[in-house]
Amino acid sequence: MLIQIPLDIPDVQIEKLDTSSKKGFVLTLTSTLKGTTCKCCGKPIDKFYGYSNEITLRHLPILDKTVWLKIKPKRYQCPDCDNGPTTTQTCSWYDIKSPHTKAYEQWLLRDLINSTITDVSMKRGIGEAAVEGIINRYIHQQVDWQAIKTIPLLGIDEIALKKGHKDFVVIVTAINEQGEKHILAVLPDRKKDTVKAFLAAIPVLQKATIQRVCVDMYEGYSNAVYEALSGVVVIVDRFHVAKNYRGCADKARKQEMRALKKTLSDKEYAELKGVMWIFRKRWEDITKEQQVPLLILFRYSPMLQQVYIFREVMTSIFNRSLTKAQAVTELEAWIQQIQELDLNCFDSFVGTLRKWMDEITHYFIQRQSSGFVEGLNNKIKVIKRRCYGIYDLGRLFQHIWLDVEGRRIFGYA
Ligand SMILES: [Zn+2]
Repeated sequence: MLIQIPLDIPDVQIEKLDTSSKKGFVLTLTSTLKGTTCKCCGKPIDKFYGYSNEITLRHLPILDKTVWLKIKPKRYQCPDCDNGPTTTQTCSWYDIKSPHTKAYEQWLLRDLINSTITDVSMKRGIGEAAVEGIINRYIHQQVDWQAIKTIPLLGIDEIALKKGHKDFVVIVTAINEQGEKHILAVLPDRKKDTVKAFLAAIPVLQKATIQRVCVDMYEGYSNAVYEALSGVVVIVDRFHVAKNYRGCADKARKQEMRALKKTLSDKEYAELKGVMWIFRKRWEDITKEQQVPLLILFRYSPMLQQVYIFREVMTSIFNRSLTKAQAVTELEAWIQQIQELDLNCFDSFVGTLRKWMDEITHYFIQRQSSGFVEGLNNKIKVIKRRCYGIYDLGRLFQHIWLDVEGRRIFGYA
């Protein structure tokens, strides 16, 4: 049975279709477009001057068959310029520098979202260098400020490029009123001056729209923001706060488990199997069966029960819709209680909390900042895992850009 499908390429006529080639379907086309603009004077010209050599372009596959388009570009001569220079006609559906149609390249870019160059290259039978070429043709290696009008919320965060390595790169992101996310920069290190230099160089128009900046609890970031941007609200996201106090609770759990391993019999200790993962969960996320080892742990270590409870209380404070002032009161009360109970595993967190109280409680004013930073963080974590080995910051920028903005720009198939 035969079907007819539109080629969906403007201004061409199909001369020949060869389905017998092992390489796939080969279509020979001619352009029905007349004329072009002179490369010298820029005027429209329509004096036909023959054809250039035939070129072959890879196009979107049809029924899993590779599709090749052959076309001889038309040439036109200028009657006005000296020596009558000729110009090759440009068509909207391919770029003279590329061996693929634009439709194919955008399809491949959609394919690259949440994937890797190696993966797409293998899946589509196209060389890695060609995939890189496509990326470079469509995606800048740094921010294109013309594509960004306003930055009501800016995020500054870091990722370690190698596992366990202290080699951080800083990721600057933005979200606008429509909820559209942008990547603004991948900076080579987390020094205050590096971050400050980037912030200071944001074009005046966009800079004036920055209202809030989300940062981790690191003075290099907050000071860079305070020094480079005036009148913005600095927010420490609850996500970063949670990482901190949950880390304290985990450390206490590890220490207690180590002590219990010494004092408990092997049989008793075996009852605590799997408790590490359960301890990390919220009470409402724990099944009845999972409660058992956790409650046994709490019987052996009442201190850990307190740690668990106060960890959960802290989370619940952030879950409530409090005013900034109410949040300060709640957090101070929490500090007082754990100090009365001598839960010194939280000491470092208390220090952090006190130091960053203002920025942390800014979160309660406009809570919507949270999901953005956390969501983007998770995305970047995934990108990082995929992009191990990409130490080129421009390349990293392109990958993050594809994942963050690619769907919006290239559509989602
Ligand atoms: Zn001319």
